[in-house]
Amino acid sequence: MNLQTRPSLYAQSLDEIKDFLVTHDQSRHLAPLIYESLYKKACTQQFSEKTIKLLEEKFDRHLPEIVSAKKAEDGTVKFLMQFEDGKKVETVLIPFFKRFTVCLSSQVGCAMKCSFCYTGTQGLTRHLKSHEMIGQYLQAKKYLEENSADDTSVMTPNIVLMGQGEPLHNFDEVKKALEIMLNPLGLALGPRQITLSTAGFLPGLKRFHDLPKVNLALSLHSPFNDVRKTLIPITGQYPLEEIFNALDEVKLMKRQFVTYEYLLIDGLNDRDEDVDELYRLLGKRKAIINIIPFNPFPGSSFKRPSSEKVDLFKEKLVAKNLRTLIRTTKGSDILAACGQLVS
Ligand code: SF4
Repeated sequence: MNLQTRPSLYAQSLDEIKDFLVTHDQSRHLAPLIYESLYKKACTQQFSEKTIKLLEEKFDRHLPEIVSAKKAEDGTVKFLMQFEDGKKVETVLIPFFKRFTVCLSSQVGCAMKCSFCYTGTQGLTRHLKSHEMIGQYLQAKKYLEENSADDTSVMTPNIVLMGQGEPLHNFDEVKKALEIMLNPLGLALGPRQITLSTAGFLPGLKRFHDLPKVNLALSLHSPFNDVRKTLIPITGQYPLEEIFNALDEVKLMKRQFVTYEYLLIDGLNDRDEDVDELYRLLGKRKAIINIIPFNPFPGSSFKRPSSEKVDLFKEKLVAKNLRTLIRTTKGSDILAACGQLVS
């Protein structure tokens, strides 16, 4: 195991690189070029030998190692990625028409212990550093470039922070990663290309305004605290009333909606009273409900509803003028779908 002793160059903000250069008698104007060399594969010949040596001495440039890449029939690729300390997470590359989205993990394991989630069974091992999130993206993108056909429009995948971990529980590192993702000299993604998904970790949600602007998704799964608590135990600490108070404080971008993920489980949260309560909660909010039919995993006691039941539930919500989508499950044959990740 090659334990990293130097800080990662991928963990440095542009300003941090500028400061570093100045304190080492180098021009701060090299910082944008260094960023480009990291994120846009620009040629490094423009740096002097002294600069190259200095960067090599002071910083590490390793990306996580792809231990395995499994491709599902629908084109979804599930990677197992390993970091310098040997810890592993899963990262998923999801095709959607001609675009791709990379589902990133933000922690090794997760402390939220959601009962429907394979990851939740592990508990939290550690938070990921910003460069470990950026590294997952760069590796997935590289895989895509090396393995996809000729269409280059697929080469800038979107990001969802929806893999292993609760991103708002790892606030500072996620914030740093988002800043690099959005920096035009960094990953150069637009705010609408990134979605942060939370289980409703209230201390982080209350600080959402401190993050750069990105899309927000809440794992709702039930409009009733008692049912939601059986699925997402932190509901006991952070009830829906408080979560919605915090959500109402989030300043949305123009034409932005909050996405409410709704894992539909047979007989549990697909009743008429769920429809009525969802309408009460979301009818007057800028909301999109994203129904995700439950993906069974080994040992889970929940059942997936029939496709007729899923369609009927959606129709009832739409009849109440609630914007509702059914998310097509991707990668379920390789356990890469939502709630099925485990390292
Ligand atoms: S669903 Fe998300 S927040 Fe809940 S245990 Fe799994 S990874 Fe953590």
